[in-house]
Amino acid sequence: MELNKFKEFTILNSPALVEYILETSSYPNEHEQSIMNASVDETQFLSILLKLMNAKNTLEIGVFTGYSLLATALALPEDGKVIAVDPNKEAYEFGLPHIKKAGVEHKIDFVEGPAMPFLNDLLAKGKEGCFDFAFVDADKDNYINYHEPLMKLVKVGGVIAYDNTLWFGIVALAEDDEKFNDPTLGSIKQYGYDAIKKVNTFLPNDPRIESTLLSIGDGVTLCRRKY
Ligand code: SAM
Ligand code: CA
Repeated sequence: MELNKFKEFTILNSPALVEYILETSSYPNEHEQSIMNASVDETQFLSILLKLMNAKNTLEIGVFTGYSLLATALALPEDGKVIAVDPNKEAYEFGLPHIKKAGVEHKIDFVEGPAMPFLNDLLAKGKEGCFDFAFVDADKDNYINYHEPLMKLVKVGGVIAYDNTLWFGIVALAEDDEKFNDPTLGSIKQYGYDAIKKVNTFLPNDPRIESTLLSIGDGVTLCRRKY
């Protein structure tokens, strides 16, 4: 629907290659705004990463229908837990049958509400250093604000992953580039673009982390907390 019109804008610059990657995996297209879901190649990568890290306790900021959440819950051990926060409980409930069918609901604590007060609550409850991993995929304007509480909540050696940091592949386009001025891009440029560019400048200059922007999905920046 409305959001899915942006499907042609990806960092791969090849609709055929995107379709090929998606069709050779299990394309999650049940929801009219399925473009909100992380891509299959990215969730598979995150799943392997979580297993390599032996992650047990994680945070998910921005759930939508729970596609990346399901991938996370599947990757966690039986006694693992992902705390997932989103004000949109309806969307979470849309995907919940799939989570139940996969038998991983017991690994998920869904919290209905905005992330910022929730992260501050966790800190007030003494949860510093309690998380191995955080996946940030909510309101892009707040990425920069989520970073400080997450730097306390995620343990030293843990990872914070910020999603969509290549923002439909337009972050590096010159303002006079034909693609940058495609009228379809209107709302993408109004929402998210400035915030993501700011984050992409901020993170590599934060001495407390090692960061790398991976060109997978719509771009995901991994930040490993050094101290
Ligand atoms: N991570 C999901 C996936 O890949 O399957 C997609 C998440 S979707 C791109 C973004 C979600 O962020 C929406 O469901 C929206 O309700 C949520 N969101 C927006 N503002 C938020 C906030 N302040 N705190 C937490 N979640 C928020
Ligand atoms: Ca995303």
